[in-house]
Amino acid sequence: MLTDYHVHLRPDEPGTEPSEYFTPENVERYLAAAREAGIQELGVSEHVHRFRRSLDVWDHPFWLESARDDLDAYAEFVRETPLRLGIEMDYVPGREDRIANLLESYDFDYVIGSVHYVRDRAVDHDVWDIWESIGDPDRVWELYFTTLAEAARSGLYDVLAHPDLVKVWGPERPRPQRDPRLHYEPAVEAIAESGIAVEVSTAGLRKPVRELYPSREFAEMCVEAGAAFSLSSDAHVPEHIGFAYDRAVDAMNEWGVREVAVFEGRSRRLEPLGRAGAKADTERVG
Ligand SMILES: [Zn+2]
Ligand SMILES: [Zn+2]
Repeated sequence: MLTDYHVHLRPDEPGTEPSEYFTPENVERYLAAAREAGIQELGVSEHVHRFRRSLDVWDHPFWLESARDDLDAYAEFVRETPLRLGIEMDYVPGREDRIANLLESYDFDYVIGSVHYVRDRAVDHDVWDIWESIGDPDRVWELYFTTLAEAARSGLYDVLAHPDLVKVWGPERPRPQRDPRLHYEPAVEAIAESGIAVEVSTAGLRKPVRELYPSREFAEMCVEAGAAFSLSSDAHVPEHIGFAYDRAVDAMNEWGVREVAVFEGRSRRLEPLGRAGAKADTERVG
C-alpha cells in the first residue's frame, strides 16, 4: 500500500479562488497522478487558515488575510469525490477546545497536525520569520520541538505533519549547536505516549533543506519508540503527487518501517508498505 494524504488541491499563493481548484476536473488530475504513481489511498488536507472558520481558533494576521474559503463547501465537495477527507490543522497552544470544536463539526477521515508557528512566529514563512525575533538556533529548535510534543499530546490529531519542519531553510538559517537528537527527545516521547502517526513527507526534498521529513535520526528514534508512520508528498499541484516516493520508501525500509498508516473516519489501520513506482491496480483511487 502507498498513500498520499497530505495533499492540497489549492496552491499556497494568495489571490486564487476556490472555484478554480475544487473542481471535478482538478480532482481527476490528482487521481490520475496517483494511479500513475501506484498510490491506492489519496486524500486531501487543505490548510485550515484558508477557511473563514479558522478565525474561530486564531486571529494571527496571516490567518486574517488568508481565511476566505468556506469549510462546509470544501467538505461537501470532497465527499462527492473518491478522495479521503482531511485537513491540515495547525496546533495553537491554549486553543485546544476551539480546535476540537472545529474538528467535531466535520466527518474527516483524518486530521493532520502541523506546527508552523511558535507563538506568533513562523518557522517556515519568511514574513513572520522566527529567526529574526529569536536568533539562537538552539532556542528555536527547542521551542519548535516542545510545541510539537504538545501537539502530539493534545490528542487532536491523527498524523504529525513534516515533524522536523524547523530545518526547512537548510543552509539559509543557522543550525543548532546541540546534537539534534536532544531536541527530538521530548517530541519522540510525546509521539510514543500519544500513539500519533509520524508523517514521512517528501516535501522537504523540494525545500532548501533538500531532505525528507523526518531526518534519519528522528525517524530511528520514532521506530525505537514503536511509532506508526504515514506517507505523503504535501503536493500543492498534481505533478507532486507521490513525489520522490522511491526515496521515501527506500528510507523507510532502511529505518525498519514495514507498514504504513491508512485512515478512514478517523480510525487507523496499518498496511504493508508498498513499492514505489508500480502503477495502482486497485479500485480505491477511482
Ligand atoms: Zn504544513
Ligand atoms: Zn501542507
